[in-house]
Amino acid sequence: MTAHEEFADDLALYALGVLEGSDRSALQAHLAQCAACRRELQHLFGDMGLLGLATIGPAPGPDARARLLSALAEEPRVRMARKQAWRWWLLAPMAAAIVLALVSIVLWRQNRALRQELAQQQAQSAQNQAEFERAIEVLALLSRPDAMRVTLIATNAKPQPQGKAIYRPQTGSLVFLASNFAPVPPKKAYELWLLPTSGAAPIPVGIFKPDAHGSATVLMPPLQKDLQAKAFAVTIEPETGSTTPTMPIILAGGQ
Ligand SMILES: [Zn+2]
Repeated sequence: MTAHEEFADDLALYALGVLEGSDRSALQAHLAQCAACRRELQHLFGDMGLLGLATIGPAPGPDARARLLSALAEEPRVRMARKQAWRWWLLAPMAAAIVLALVSIVLWRQNRALRQELAQQQAQSAQNQAEFERAIEVLALLSRPDAMRVTLIATNAKPQPQGKAIYRPQTGSLVFLASNFAPVPPKKAYELWLLPTSGAAPIPVGIFKPDAHGSATVLMPPLQKDLQAKAFAVTIEPETGSTTPTMPIILAGGQ
């Protein structure tokens, strides 16, 4: 260990203005002849200047000096370790300020992203609401018993019973419109069947009874999704419905 390495600890205390007595005069005598220690002292003063600019918290309390001195005394007597610990202590407030600034920027960006997302969701929500209200209107009209239902056919033809199924397998959505259906016998009802493409047994979709004009609707019955249909059919069943169709088939149609 060269002579000036022994003064490294004292340099820090000297820079703080707390080195006293014979230690102080010994260090001053060494500084007069050691350029390396003078440079180190300049660095320490520089660090403290940064500390003064960067400190945004409250001023150190009256115990700060005592705590600093005891912390220095407890450090292992290795110059580099001491120096690094010292520098860290000096720069901690600036590091805290930088971290605070970075956190502020990150939070600001997150906040901006969240506000954009919220605006998009509000626009999407308004569109969903409009679509929902339109769907309600359509279903309300279809299910109104007092709505006028007219089936247009060739002018010289006799009206025939007719069913129209509008089906979307992806969502399991189905609307069925019946017109010109004959009245059913007591305790009986028409039942609509879905014939799967897979060849599986017909699936009961819903039961319905025509009104005085022969019209009826089956709206959005509970159906599983992705059920491919090759055809639809209508039979007459007990009014509680059946699990398998009773012959004969009254109407049938497929794509
Ligand atoms: Zn020296």
